[in-house]
Amino acid sequence: MIEIDGAFGEGGGQIVRSSLTLSLATGQPVRLYNIRAGRKKPGLLRQHLTSVQAAARVGNARVEGAAPGSREVTFEPGPVTGGTYHFSVGSAGSTTLVLQTILPVLLTSDAPSKVVIEGGTHNPFAPPFPFLERTFIPLINRMGPNVRLTLHRPGFFPAGGGKLEVDIEPMARLGRIELTGRGEVQGIRATAIVAGLPRHIAERELKVLGRQLDLPASRLQVQEERAAHGPGNVVLIEIALPEVTEVVTGFGQRGKPAERVAREAAMEAKAFLEAGVPVGQHLADQLLLPLALGSGGVYVTQSLTPHTETNIEVIRRFTDCAIRRLEEPGGAVRIVVDPPATESPAGEFH
Ligand code: ATP
Repeated sequence: MIEIDGAFGEGGGQIVRSSLTLSLATGQPVRLYNIRAGRKKPGLLRQHLTSVQAAARVGNARVEGAAPGSREVTFEPGPVTGGTYHFSVGSAGSTTLVLQTILPVLLTSDAPSKVVIEGGTHNPFAPPFPFLERTFIPLINRMGPNVRLTLHRPGFFPAGGGKLEVDIEPMARLGRIELTGRGEVQGIRATAIVAGLPRHIAERELKVLGRQLDLPASRLQVQEERAAHGPGNVVLIEIALPEVTEVVTGFGQRGKPAERVAREAAMEAKAFLEAGVPVGQHLADQLLLPLALGSGGVYVTQSLTPHTETNIEVIRRFTDCAIRRLEEPGGAVRIVVDPPATESPAGEFH
């Protein structure tokens, strides 16, 4: 049984999710202890607990310790089966992080899947739905499977109540991917979403974004969601590159001026553009598992976050995948993921 100290590295929910995914993918049981030891509220929160339950369902696993606040979980996976699943995080807990846990193994499972998840869809500290839709899933589809995402209802933090659906046509093994050059920026546009909040919040945000990123009015858009889905406010900056569309997100928050929300998001977008890389910091940690479990690949990103460093370590604990990081000029980093060669049924190595 693999033992994972949840306090190591980034010390948060990421270690739990990645360990569950890797356990399912490799068939190795895992014991997680010190779960989220460094956080203010340690142990499993609703979102993490739902991830454990979802992983157990799709992977027919035997689980001990799956309870709110639990700091230790033992997970013994069975075979992963595609099918129809419905999970509810029950609060504004992130639906997209639950999906992050089970998606990599459903991509290569034995049958198509339809997964519906209810909870938050636009949460701070998690991939917002538009990031999955425009940044992450198009790259997954480029590796071979066919994944379609539907947002039935947005759910903003703290009220939640959103609903997303994912339809997956799997394939036997994910293909390789290479994202090494950024290329010319094809276009930038910004959207400010408000749900149950005054439109002027979005307009003030777009004014700042237009100025900071030098965007004409035609590239700025207000999106008003129904009040019942709020209150919520999010700004999205979409940067289209030849190979990737990066979505940078800013989350509105009670007491935080709209101008500051927009300024911070603009700063993040500028840092990404100045780095001259195709892969942003969030995408960098999220690509690691699909690459390590598939046919590997290469990508160039900004300096590594603790999330990325932690994922690299967790992958090492479960697999023989070689992950190298090479310094590039200007502070960028090239990540090279080489899974061990697999034996084909004919006994030949590829
Ligand atoms: P914690 O234990 O810290 O409460 P958590 O389970 O809520 O953890 P993290 O461990 O912080 O979550 O992992 C967050 C994940 O969400 C990471 O994969 C990160 O890349 C992703 N993420 C966070 N913010 C964004 C964003 N703005 N856009 C895309 N992805 C994001």
